[in-house]
Amino acid sequence: MSMILISACLAGICCKYSGGDNGIAEIRKMYEEGKCIAVCPEVLGGLPTPRPCAEIQQGRVINTEGKDVSEEYRKGALLALQKAEEAGCREAVLKAYSPSCGCGEIYDGSFAHTKIKGNGVFAEMCLEHGIHCISDEEYKERK
Ligand code: SF4
Repeated sequence: MSMILISACLAGICCKYSGGDNGIAEIRKMYEEGKCIAVCPEVLGGLPTPRPCAEIQQGRVINTEGKDVSEEYRKGALLALQKAEEAGCREAVLKAYSPSCGCGEIYDGSFAHTKIKGNGVFAEMCLEHGIHCISDEEYKERK
């Protein structure tokens, strides 16, 4: 089985915008056993933790301070993709609804927790490069 790619926050790494993590015990265990690689595209893009929450608005990533952070998101996604490809990942479990990692559904840019169909910047890049992505919610449903 090839190496699985995971959003770092799902492995218990405190890289969430709020400073916390989204750890899932089973994913954390896989990570500790070296069965997956963990990446946080936002941190790789040079953003600090904690950092302002951001959502995608008309193709741009805008944070709650009104700053356009699209370039940091794009740069981090490229670096994270490079790590995934170097590790030979073909499958990913990514954090749902994130403007980076969300796959299938993301927030609509209104900061009102309204979900729409779409992918985060990193998830979109992974899909374009043939990495099969599921969200942590789908992962939990399958268990
Ligand atoms: Fe988690 Fe991805 Fe957000 Fe990083 S960018 S905190 S890995 S959801």
